[in-house]
Amino acid sequence: MKILVINCGSSSLKFQLLDMSDESLVASGLVERIGLDGSRLVLKTNDGEEHTFEQPLPDHTAALKLTIDTLISPEFNILKSLDEIGAVGHRIVHAGEAYSESVIIDEEVMDAVEKATDLAPLHNPPNILGVRAMQKIMPGTPNVAVFDTAFHQSMEPPAYIYPLPYRFYEKYRVRRYGFHGTSHKYVFETAAKFLGIPKEEMRTITCHLGNGSSLAAIQNGKSIDTTMGFTPLEGLVMGTRSGNIDPAIYHYVMQKENLSPDEMDQILNKESGVLGISCYSSDFRDLSDNASAGDMQCALALSIFRRSVKKYIGSYAALMGGVDCIIFTGGIGENSALDRRYICEGLEFLGAKLDPKKNKVRGKLAEISTDDSTVKILVVPTNEELAIARDTLRLVQA
Ligand code: ADP
Repeated sequence: MKILVINCGSSSLKFQLLDMSDESLVASGLVERIGLDGSRLVLKTNDGEEHTFEQPLPDHTAALKLTIDTLISPEFNILKSLDEIGAVGHRIVHAGEAYSESVIIDEEVMDAVEKATDLAPLHNPPNILGVRAMQKIMPGTPNVAVFDTAFHQSMEPPAYIYPLPYRFYEKYRVRRYGFHGTSHKYVFETAAKFLGIPKEEMRTITCHLGNGSSLAAIQNGKSIDTTMGFTPLEGLVMGTRSGNIDPAIYHYVMQKENLSPDEMDQILNKESGVLGISCYSSDFRDLSDNASAGDMQCALALSIFRRSVKKYIGSYAALMGGVDCIIFTGGIGENSALDRRYICEGLEFLGAKLDPKKNKVRGKLAEISTDDSTVKILVVPTNEELAIARDTLRLVQA
């Protein structure tokens, strides 16, 4: 069966078509500038060729219609007919507290996603548009929702309740939700399989380090805590997000600079993190290059980032009474040997010893701890689309 995986943003959408008989990628692509001037689809076929189609795409339905037409166009020989697509898997950011698993989409699911919209005002609306468009274009084909928040729904109240008046939770559902759930679950399950250890027997810390970064503590096969919270702003220092700060800074700076809540929110989400500290870039490669050339601000940004990751590894090990496996993933986690080295430096007391030679790996599944390290340290490339396609297949076959 072939599965189409869709990730809709407000003006863009990414897709992958996977052949689940061998989990191979058949085609992938990106539609940009939906509803704006200069909209276009870039299709990547599995011979590595890119094909660009520029045409007006007023909405997500038009964008997905063009995507489907291109996939069945005889020119590319990707699909003979639409019937070959057995199901569509959608990345949906927020399900509130409604779902702890992926689900086949019906009107009840759509209601829950719509209700969670004020928790994810930027993400849920385009996710909903993507589902509605597919229901129109391929009415007989099942759609599956794979939620970014679902994996963390296993957290217990001590992990997800904030120390605020309890009524904020009761009235507004202000609590920790956590994000990147599909990635944390995927790399954890891949690692358990790779190590040949039953999932229930591994105390694992997954470090998803990219533009947005989060850690999860996984015990008995379940997420028991994660660094992102009510929104993706909490936790680690990120590319442009502040992560944890004293909440009183918010009020203080707003008064000093005469800022509105929206302006302050923008600063914390888009102008802070390593970009804010370095005054230069949110891209870790730029920071690394500049730090090696002697730029102290970039070096400071990197050390604050690495320190924040290390601090959480320590606290998650404490929560689980130890750790058996630390996993690095995401653009930084998969590629940056230097960041992994600094993060792991000093973790020997936990039994985690990084092997400098094995650590030279980039972008592939590998164990990077020494033979005598009691904690397995791994690099596991994430693949959220494959995780979505697997869940979609499992649900439609059940
Ligand atoms: P997103 O959260 O947008 O999915 P990614 O997971 O793709 O982001 O991660 C992007 C980040 O990974 C960027 O900051 C980029 O600089 C960083 N990155 C990619 N390759 C390297 C590398 N070799 N060394 C350091 N950082 C890297």
